Amino acid sequence: MVSFFQQAKALDRDDVLAGFRNDFYHADDHLIYLDGNSLGRLPAATASWMEDVIKNQWGRDLIQSWNNHWFHLPQRLAAKLAALIGAQADEVFIGDSTSINFYKLAFAALKHQAGKKNILTDNLNFPSDYYLLQGLISESFPQHRLMLVQSADGIVMDNESLAKSLDAQTALLTLSHVTFKSSFMYDMAKVNALAQTYDVPVLWDLSHAAGAVPLHLNRDQAQLAVGCTYKYLNGGPGSPAFLYVSKAMQQKMVNPNWGWMGHSQPFEFDFNYQKAANTAGFAVGTPHILSLAAIEPGLLLMEKAGMERLFAKSRALSVFFQEMIQQKLEPIGFKFASPNHPDQRGSHISLRHPEGFRISKALIQPEKGVKPIIPDFRPPDNIRFGIAPLYNSFTDLCACVERLESIVLNKEYEAFNTIKEAVT
Ligand SMILES: *Cc1c(COP(=O)(O)O)cnc(C)c1O
Repeated sequence: MVSFFQQAKALDRDDVLAGFRNDFYHADDHLIYLDGNSLGRLPAATASWMEDVIKNQWGRDLIQSWNNHWFHLPQRLAAKLAALIGAQADEVFIGDSTSINFYKLAFAALKHQAGKKNILTDNLNFPSDYYLLQGLISESFPQHRLMLVQSADGIVMDNESLAKSLDAQTALLTLSHVTFKSSFMYDMAKVNALAQTYDVPVLWDLSHAAGAVPLHLNRDQAQLAVGCTYKYLNGGPGSPAFLYVSKAMQQKMVNPNWGWMGHSQPFEFDFNYQKAANTAGFAVGTPHILSLAAIEPGLLLMEKAGMERLFAKSRALSVFFQEMIQQKLEPIGFKFASPNHPDQRGSHISLRHPEGFRISKALIQPEKGVKPIIPDFRPPDNIRFGIAPLYNSFTDLCACVERLESIVLNKEYEAFNTIKEAVT
């Protein structure tokens, strides 16, 4: 019988995207990084790219760089990102954080739907999105209420439950396209069509989807979306986020934060606000040029690899991972906590184990001579494994399963405590 390791070797040999691993910086060639869904790796080109931005554009050319390089940088990046997510350039804005952009669009959508009082989401969504909605209700929309559609198993959601909760009182439906814990992926076209029958705008959070799965926002009739660039897009820690407003919605959505960078002519220094056209009106203050500039090398790699090819590899990796998990890890106490069918998954896999936290520590800090593996942990007991097809291989996943097996069989996790650091 061919071992998983032999299979992995053969799959890596046939992998047309394998070469992209060398387009990233590897300080420790033995480290296996399975957390690209939280912070993508550093593209090899980014350091010298940033040296140019810092030394030449800022240091040498000073303020002239606003005209020569910086003022139109957000739009230039937005055009590249738009192509990746199936949108038009002037439907995308890059800047601020995902949370801030979520606030802008949720506020705008609720204003537009004044008269309807229900805000609908699910219990698989990301906490920041709940908090923002709670804050909007508390501070600006006191008549509204937040309703959560419940997933029975905490892993998947069925469209029927969603359909039952939508009605003429629903002002906004907001969902993560790929959910952060279980990796469940909604069928975007179906959900949009369903919501449209009730005239409900859908605000998608694409943080775990952008750069992870093919997105066709225009084709799938998406109206509103936000997302991150520091996860699968490898833009760097805290890199600026994006938002999307479809052409048809642009007349109806007003950014609640009226800043000068969202003005149609900021350098006229006029006393009265005039909203800029398209998504340019969703800018607020001066763009974060250094962190914006760092996004470009990652986008260029995505462009070169192509989203369809990337997702095909991600799927093959996750199916292989699942097979190994079923054979080797489920019998020793791990539970598969992502959807069983790859059509319903994004690009990460969650495993549950009562000792999940200490197991993840043991993966990260192994004994000398054993490859460290970095996943992340989400309470109460989920270990998440991000699969980034630009730099992860089949042998990476094989090594990961082997380590999980040995950590549990040898009770290696007992050497670790349960003290959590600020970021897990
Ligand atoms: C990572 C993530 C965020 C992060 O928001 P920030 O404002 O960048 O901190 C938001 N939503 C989802 C679904 C995420 O996965």
